[in-house]
Amino acid sequence: MINDTISAISTALSASGVAVIRISGPSALNIAQKMFIPVGKTGVSDFEPNKMYVGEIEADGFKDYGMCVYFKAPKSFTGEDSVEFHCHGGIAITKGVLKKTLSLGARLATNGEFTKRAFLNGKLSLSSAEGLIDMINSESESGVKAGYYLYREKLTAEINAMQDDITDVLAQIDADMDFPEEDLEQTSTLAVENTLNSVVQKIDALLKTYRTGRTLKNGVRVAIVGKPNTGKSSLLNALLNYDKAIVSDVAGTTRDIVEGNLDINGVRFNFSDTAGIRESGDKVEEMGVSLSKKVLSESDVILFVLDGGFITQEDEQIYSLVKDKNLIVAINKTDKNDYKDDRADVYVSALKKHNLSQLKELLFEKSVGSGLDLNGDFLCEERHFNALLRAKEKLLSALNSIGLVTLDLLAIDVKDGWDALGEISGRTATEDIINDIFSKFCVGK
Ligand code: GDP
Repeated sequence: MINDTISAISTALSASGVAVIRISGPSALNIAQKMFIPVGKTGVSDFEPNKMYVGEIEADGFKDYGMCVYFKAPKSFTGEDSVEFHCHGGIAITKGVLKKTLSLGARLATNGEFTKRAFLNGKLSLSSAEGLIDMINSESESGVKAGYYLYREKLTAEINAMQDDITDVLAQIDADMDFPEEDLEQTSTLAVENTLNSVVQKIDALLKTYRTGRTLKNGVRVAIVGKPNTGKSSLLNALLNYDKAIVSDVAGTTRDIVEGNLDINGVRFNFSDTAGIRESGDKVEEMGVSLSKKVLSESDVILFVLDGGFITQEDEQIYSLVKDKNLIVAINKTDKNDYKDDRADVYVSALKKHNLSQLKELLFEKSVGSGLDLNGDFLCEERHFNALLRAKEKLLSALNSIGLVTLDLLAIDVKDGWDALGEISGRTATEDIINDIFSKFCVGK
């Protein structure tokens, strides 16, 4: 039972129009009563829930004029009595209001504690809480959508349905245990097999969406490679529309990985412009070279840039290193050459910004794929993926041992499958898993 009251600033701490200080716990309304003087006749203790009241907010050493709203348990985000102060968004103002709540008995909330309380009070599942973090942290439309799918309990609903099916199987096994043969009745065997197979199929369908889901959440990693001076930095600048990478005529100038992000059709693309992957005698450049090899191995797509007016053996060497990867070959500097190459996917000019939209479409196609509905349901969390894999393994093991082991042994595998699924929604998650998830939140959420 949670019986203390927590408080925190729920908006970003910076000069802004409005800031929100949130209090949750049994003394929330009592604290509001001591620091809010409403305009009008209604006293704080008579506040109608979910209604904004205007008045004076007594902060630590000064006053602000703002609003207060009361959410009555259990109809609040946390499931507890909660109060929000909406004050002006100055840093000193916000801190002053928070300090006042603390002086009146609230405790400063830890990371994600409001959401953790919501979970502990049964207001949302664990995967929904994770979706919420994903949405808050996402900088792309697709990332928000992937988070929203979790947040709105869509995955939890699928998981719960699978768990219900498994519960039926467990009941069936339990019923048959009373028979002396210590084996499933023939009709039960069929029913158990069918149900377990159908759950495994549903798990497989979800597992298949993971690669795309992860891309939608984290973005696509693109490495730009090519020998020095082919125009990699220029192309990155042109794509990003600003001068982040250093452009120079001296070969080997781009020694560090220069990075940038771009939104293509709502998906985030993270670019790394690398030093050439050729060998070099220069120490600094060599560091860049080894970094490049790492970036290469971690990329989803490789953009190989050639200078159409200056193709050499070095280009061929690089090509041989990347040809088996998910590759886009771009011939650059078409403003001053008309070189044609069978391997080319696109002809561009970074200088004149020619064909950049075609290049962007290609990047999207090669990574996310065309015809993808971003509103579809995708698995995007590694934790969920791993739990589903474990559940599948246990259920397959149960399926393979029907008729070969005693019913109580069979039930153990089935129950383990049920438990693995429950980790996703939080029904069977351990305290460590729960703490780990909420520690990723910021204070105030
Ligand atoms: P990097 O070493 O591959 O990153 O190459 P840079 O982006 O530094 O470019 C090398 C040189 O090629 C610079 O002088 C650029 O201005 C020039 N350059 C890059 N792209 C183009 C292009 O599309 N057309 C022309 N004419 N020059 C380009």
